[in-house]
Amino acid sequence: MLTTVVFDADETLLDLRPAVTGGLVAVLDEMRRRAPAASEVTLAELESDWGAVFGDLRTAPVAEIRRAALARSLARAGLNDHLDEVVALFFARRFALTRPFPDVPAALATLRSRYTLGFATNGNSRTERCGLAGEFAFEVYAHDNRLPKKPAPEFYAAVVAAAGVPAEQIVYVGDSWEHDVVAPRRAGLRSVWLNRHGLPRPGDLMPHAEVSSLADLPAALAALPAALADLRVDEVGV
Ligand SMILES: [Mg+2]
Repeated sequence: MLTTVVFDADETLLDLRPAVTGGLVAVLDEMRRRAPAASEVTLAELESDWGAVFGDLRTAPVAEIRRAALARSLARAGLNDHLDEVVALFFARRFALTRPFPDVPAALATLRSRYTLGFATNGNSRTERCGLAGEFAFEVYAHDNRLPKKPAPEFYAAVVAAAGVPAEQIVYVGDSWEHDVVAPRRAGLRSVWLNRHGLPRPGDLMPHAEVSSLADLPAALAALPAALADLRVDEVGV
């Protein structure tokens, strides 16, 4: 029996990309205000700085990765001494612009009548800063109490503990194939892949369901089989 639906945050419930872009635009404006050399710096370069630092900081808190990326951006214009204020500027803008996708409110309202709803993220999109305060029975954040990030098994164990029900009663819903489909299944949860952009499946594993919009999620969950007896991990290749 499925009792609990747990959502990834960024790019699943939250339209993060415009918020991050808006934060970086504010940073670039500030850099250009402070230093003539910053007129040569582009938004694309600021966007690339995240990718340049991410590999070495993969398991670090997201705020720490962003800080390292912004340090790299400021160095492009010799503005290294302004890191603290630029980090604050970025996050103020990023959170001010963070909104749920349009399909979120109705989906949560429908699902809440049938399931316990949870929120579990690697990022720093805390519900109260992103227009989702009070929507969930429980919230799990990587790095709270030293909790490792997805796809660490400890993360999904914390989700199960927060839900207070056996793993097989929980479905994890998210946009990341690795974090929200493969790893939850390995931990004994069910998974729904939210594929908003019609991407090909990155692997052979079958999610328990795939939807292109959260509007389709209530029907997809209602159609799931009640039991998981046919879904041994060694059979599905995770
Ligand atoms: Mg995501």
